[in-house]
Amino acid sequence: MPELPEVEIARRLIAGQALHRRIADVDDSDSYVVRPHAPGELRNALTGRSLAAAHRRGKTIWLETSPAGGTAAAGGPELGIHLGMSGRIVVTAPDGSVTEGGDPRYGNRPDKAQWRRFTITFADGGSLVLLDPRRLGRIWLDPDIAMLGPDAGHVTSAQFRALVTKGKIAVKARLLDQSKIAGIGNLLADEILWQAKVSPLARADSLSAAQVNRLYRALKSVLESASAKGGAHTGEIFAARHRGGTCPRDGAPMVHGTVGGRSTWWCSREQALPVDQPNPV
Ligand SMILES: [Zn+2]
Repeated sequence: MPELPEVEIARRLIAGQALHRRIADVDDSDSYVVRPHAPGELRNALTGRSLAAAHRRGKTIWLETSPAGGTAAAGGPELGIHLGMSGRIVVTAPDGSVTEGGDPRYGNRPDKAQWRRFTITFADGGSLVLLDPRRLGRIWLDPDIAMLGPDAGHVTSAQFRALVTKGKIAVKARLLDQSKIAGIGNLLADEILWQAKVSPLARADSLSAAQVNRLYRALKSVLESASAKGGAHTGEIFAARHRGGTCPRDGAPMVHGTVGGRSTWWCSREQALPVDQPNPV
């Protein structure tokens, strides 16, 4: 699943290769991917413009678009992109060379034509495509970025403390709440909790100051490492996420459960729940 590091790779790809190319046509016929818009609505809104800038907060990308007419005209709508669980952005240059970013390729399965969920065709002959096997990505106009919390890469320690420590919710569920902190997905959350030696089931309002400090430091180092290595799947416990997996730090068995609605792995020894805390899930 693309998390903040993978989405940032996709944003950089768009910023580097897809801006300032006139849009000749748009295939927005997949009504599920372009919800709530009707097919044709994005095509009408974008054709004749170009993409002018690429931004990101958390896992949401949004693109500014140029005026359709002369430079005196107002800019166009913003185009929101969410890669969902399996989306990749594929940009084809005028010379036909292809670059992609987003969900990492697992194995060597070839792409299928029906995975092309949304296509911008540029006047220079190239294109920008959302390729998405699971079809959980989304493309829409004028995304409401204010619904998202601060980006996980930019959240300050004071913001982090205020956002993470309130309420009885399990800390992992809180880390996944994009309206609190934007950009932490399932793999990053498990990696951060493991690095900080905090149980994913620990209640948010039970965290000690030392635990919150460890979580914040882990967030920063996990994001840095994942960005440098190419994605959330490069975390230290990724290989241990299976039955029989052992903690790479102390060799204790990894435990599996569902926390915050997501498949969760943690170290049975170092991330044990304090015995006096009731299970919050
Ligand atoms: Zn351990």
